[in-house]
Amino acid sequence: MIIAIDGPAGSGKSTVARMVATHLEFYYLDTGAMYRALTVAAASRGIALEDEAALAELARTLPIEFGYTTGEALPSQVVIDGEDVTRAIRLPETDAGVSVVARQPGVRAALVAQQRALAAQHDTVVEGRDIGTVVFPDAGLKVFLTADPKVRAFRRIQQNEERDPAGEQDRRGAYEALIARDEADSSRQHSPLKAAGDARTLDTTDLALDEVIDRILAWARVARLHHQEGALQ
Ligand code: C5P
Repeated sequence: MIIAIDGPAGSGKSTVARMVATHLEFYYLDTGAMYRALTVAAASRGIALEDEAALAELARTLPIEFGYTTGEALPSQVVIDGEDVTRAIRLPETDAGVSVVARQPGVRAALVAQQRALAAQHDTVVEGRDIGTVVFPDAGLKVFLTADPKVRAFRRIQQNEERDPAGEQDRRGAYEALIARDEADSSRQHSPLKAAGDARTLDTTDLALDEVIDRILAWARVARLHHQEGALQ
């Protein structure tokens, strides 16, 4: 069974998707990390972020691999074409370029094909922007997470601090960058960020993490029963 978790940056998607996957013993696929890895690979090869043909070719040919180490945040390692980009994909310059890469249909077609192949073999929690609408329209459960933009920016700043406690952060800049990325992701022509018609939308602004997880696990239990019934017919 596939559980699709979509939503804007800072909505809690990654934390929630990982915890749900851990509870249910599902695999976890972070599709944003794939668009980010491609952005880093393009930059290090001197490929312009608007060069759709070259980017799509990279996306088709460069293998993206995820490494998992017990006890570390998932995915603990992201590797593209043998290069460890785990840290590089979270840098502000990657944040700034990734939406440009992700809006190009040739890139999306190549990465969506990989996402489907990766998640097809296992029960998987897949997080992204278009998972419920485009990548897995038949997902057993679709969740769309939202939260107030200021709260989302605050969570993102906290995440950055946890990753890099010594790093200097421009908080206002981080907020503005997050809003700009949402706007770019929501208004693009191909596979924009939006809730699927049959998704359950959850506003996490005033919810504790445990409450979000409990709610999704309750939905997942019901979805799993339907999925198992479906498999018997
Ligand atoms: O989820 P994350 O913030 O890491 O995603 C980074 C970017 O990758 C998003 O801002 C979006 O442009 C792109 N993305 C996408 N479709 C997905 C996942 C991410 O377009 N399924």
